[in-house]
Amino acid sequence: MIDMDLQGIGMTSRRTRDRLAQRLRDQGVISEEVLNVVRDTPRHIFIDEALSHRAYEDTALPIGYNQTISQPYIVARMTELLLEGESLNKVLEVGTGSGYQTAVLAQLVDQVFSVERIRPLQEKARKRLQRLKLHNVMLRHTDGGMGWPEKAPFDGILVTAAPREIPHELLEQLAVGGRLVIPVGHDEQILKRITRVTEDKYETETLEAVRFVPLLSGTVR
Ligand code: SAH
Repeated sequence: MIDMDLQGIGMTSRRTRDRLAQRLRDQGVISEEVLNVVRDTPRHIFIDEALSHRAYEDTALPIGYNQTISQPYIVARMTELLLEGESLNKVLEVGTGSGYQTAVLAQLVDQVFSVERIRPLQEKARKRLQRLKLHNVMLRHTDGGMGWPEKAPFDGILVTAAPREIPHELLEQLAVGGRLVIPVGHDEQILKRITRVTEDKYETETLEAVRFVPLLSGTVR
């Protein structure tokens, strides 16, 4: 049976999604691979119905519990920053939220491990990912500032909430050659990419100003 909600009708039309991809391209997203995935991922199913008509606008939207689904531009930009270079096998995402960034990643890398501290958000995300038949994702309810040590090392780590400083656990869980893409700061946040060049040498690139919800400690049931 055709799942009408996932098909090209109304707000999910091909033209609406093409327009979003073009907008991201205009803003400087280069990777056509990433743009194709963003274009083909139904963002409206990651948003509550009352707001889903705005799903293909390039804007962050509330998802409850004081959290937001990230803006498509930043999802695309962070994903291309993570993917640049050698291909990625295992990726850790900190802050599953709606699961939208998770879904984008899952279509581009072999395995995604994603952690979320708010249980009800995680449960909703799980259902959406199942609905999209993205089975290469493992979710865990935990404080992601600690990473996911049992699954480390990761070729890539993408953090979608901002800590004031980079948690050293995340640096330690990067494979040599691996990359961490993370917003850092409090009032003013900067997107950074850290590459683990050798066992004990890290290189940091400072990229652009961003706005994320804060990385908080502990979990919510
Ligand atoms: N990638 C998500 C972004 C959601 S906002 C999306 O596109 O929908 C950031 C998320 O990070 C929130 O859901 C928040 O609960 C979560 N978060 C904040 N601190 C965290 C922590 N220490 N560990 C795990 N998740 C955390």
